[in-house]
This record gives sequence, structure tokens and C-alpha cells, in this order.
Amino acid sequence: MTALPARNFPMHVSVEEARAMLAALLPMPGTETVGLEAALGRTLAAPLPALVSHPSATESALDGIACREADTLGATRERPVGLRVIGESRAGEPFAGTVAAGECVRIYTGAPIPPGTDAICPVEELTDAGDDVQLLRPASPGDVRPEGGDFRAGDPVMAAGLYLSAPRVALAAALGHRELPVRRRHRVALLSTGDEVLEPGEPLKAGQVYDSNRYGLAAMLRECGCDVLMLGHAPDSPAALHDAIERAGGADLLVTSGGVSMGKYDFMRDLLIEHGRVAFWKVRMRPGGPALLGGWQGLPVIGLPGNPVSSLVVFHVIVRPALTGLPVQALTLRAATPFRALPDKAAFWRGVIEGGQVRDYGRQGSGILRSLSDADALVIVPEGQPVAAGDDVQVVLL
Ligand code: AMP
Ligand code: MG
Repeated sequence: MTALPARNFPMHVSVEEARAMLAALLPMPGTETVGLEAALGRTLAAPLPALVSHPSATESALDGIACREADTLGATRERPVGLRVIGESRAGEPFAGTVAAGECVRIYTGAPIPPGTDAICPVEELTDAGDDVQLLRPASPGDVRPEGGDFRAGDPVMAAGLYLSAPRVALAAALGHRELPVRRRHRVALLSTGDEVLEPGEPLKAGQVYDSNRYGLAAMLRECGCDVLMLGHAPDSPAALHDAIERAGGADLLVTSGGVSMGKYDFMRDLLIEHGRVAFWKVRMRPGGPALLGGWQGLPVIGLPGNPVSSLVVFHVIVRPALTGLPVQALTLRAATPFRALPDKAAFWRGVIEGGQVRDYGRQGSGILRSLSDADALVIVPEGQPVAAGDDVQVVLL
């Protein structure tokens, strides 16, 4: 046995510390401009003001007639109120005149309210005889959408740093922007390691395993809006790992899978000690405890454990929030079953949500990949604080 190199780096950091240390190593990506159709999943790099007001005029929320509310007070099915129709207002083609007492205009959803009117009676609540209508109830000012009720021109509506979800892409379009300033995508290199790890579809011998991590992690990186540089797979040899890592040049981050544990063939940590630096080794979490953070000549490296559940859970709770800048959104649910606590580390058990409660998925081993694909959520059990059935518990949706 060769002696371990000197360990002058933090060990057993908390999940929060690990996340913050990784985020601190990532470069702030530059800015680029993309069209609305390419904006989904990107991060806004500058605030977006409203270029127009919405609604752009005070308009009707319904199809019906626009009139003066005061004319229609007291209208009922038994005693309807009659009004004279003097024209119509369409979306995009407003009524040109002014409406006087006893008059109304036909109006359609989104059409501007004509001068002189302040209320709408929907088409379902009137009888229509061409030049005259009879209102079966009073017209309602509540069915008028005021100009600028959503936003006004010049309002600072969208803040820099906002994640562009589908509704936010819609909002940016409504504000009048065709092109959006967004953060450049992080370029992330991805490498899986292990002599026993094979490309899916190759003939598999006893003790070998298909490379699920590389494909799972690549998919998660793409979900985070990253450009993925696939470095493929390296065997458990320091020279082969060294060569593979050298191919990550130009990336903002290298993500590796495997080889970070205590085994004789786990070389990642010592390679970083020798050629770069280690920022931490081991996180107080399960699954995912052996995770490693370091640097290789200016390139941040996060070494994820090989166990499939471990690598994807560490990605979910540490790498994703660091890459996207988005907090881990935990919500509170009632536990339908107990969840075990660990004395010295946070547990992220896989849970199934049913009827608004979360229950234990059951098989919680780090090698049971189906526990992740079948589960709905990670149930967070803090160090030494077991959860009883009926307790409230924090969960992160998968
Ligand atoms: P390691 O972290 O390298 O000690 O690997 C721990 C466990 O994860 C072992 O059972 C490996 O066979 C398995 N493993 C390692 N890498 C992968 C991978 N890329 N895909 C699926 N399983 C893996
Ligand atoms: Mg290995």
C-alpha cells in the first residue's frame, strides 16, 4: 500500500458548503443575445423593461355590449333595460365615436372600451333585436380590463438572473422584446471512469455494468442548459485518467463519475492532489458521500461517486443549483411512512407522492437506479432527526 498524499483539504463538508464551494469555482458566463424561440431554459442577463403597456388600451374581457353602468342598474330578467346599438368595437378596430346615455356598442373580447362607456354586459345576459338590446342584468365594470393592468410601458418587469421558463418567454414577448440578453451556456466536460463500465449494448460479462451515469448526467446537464463536451469513458489507470482530463481544456467545469472512493483503484483524488488541488473530499450526505471537488490547472472538477443513485443525487442537490444559480426548491409534505435519520449526515431518501403525502420508496441502496426513476421526490432527513409517520417533511421534486 502506498501512503495517501497529505490531506490538507476539508473533509466531510455539509451539502450547503459543497454547493457554495462549487458555485464559487464556476466562472460567471458572459452574455449573448438569443431570439425568443431559443430563449427557453436560459438565464436573463439584464433586466427587461416593458416596451408597451398591457393591455394597450382599456378593453373588454367578454363578448357582449359596452355601455354606461348607470343606465343598467336594476335590470332583471323580469324587468330588462333596453339600450340602442350605435356601432361595434372589435379587437384591433375600435369604435370611432362616443357613447351617450341610453346607447351601447357591440364589443368583443380584447376590443377597446369606447369613450363614454364603463361597463360590459355579456352576450349571454341580453336579448338582441338588431338595433336594440334588452339587458337581463346590470352591466359590470369588473369585465373591463384597465389599460396597463398587467404592466405599464417602462415598468422594470423582468429582473436579471431570471430563469426563462415557458411563461417567462411569453412575458418577454408580451413586453415587446424579440431578442433577449442571456447568459452564455456553461460548457461542461463529462467523463465516466471504471474498468468494469461498458457502453450500453456491448456484450456484458459478470461484474460489468453499462455506463448509465454518463448518459444520465449528460441529460441532467442539458436540462440545466449546459453545452456538454462528451469525453467518453476512461479505465481505472492514472495515465488514462490524466489523458482524458487533459481533453477537457476550454470547459468551464469537468464532471467525472467514479473513482472517488476509498478503493485501491479510485485514482481521482490523488490525481487532483498531484496535478491540481482538492477543495473538499466527502460530503455529509447519503447517497453521495464520497463526492470530491477540486481543480486541474484552473479547470474546476467535480468528482461524483460511481454508484448511479449517488451520482445523480449529488448532481441534483449540489451541481444543478451551483450551475443554474437556482435554489433547491424544497416543499413540505406529510410523511406517510417513517424515514430513518443518519447520525452524522443528511439523508436524501427516495419517496413516492400519493394523495398529497410522501412514502418511503423502499429499496434505498445507492445501486438501485430504479429508486430514482420510479420516485417522485428526494425526502430530506437532516442529520440525527428521524421522521415519524404523520410528521411534516421537506422534499425536493425529481
Ligand atoms: P466507484 O465509485 O468507481 O467505486 O463505483 C461504485 C459503483 O458504481 C460500482 O458498483 C460501479 O460498478 C458503479 N459504477 C461506476 N461507474 C458507473 C457508471 N458510469 N454507470 C453505472 N454504474 C457505475
Ligand atoms: Mg470505479
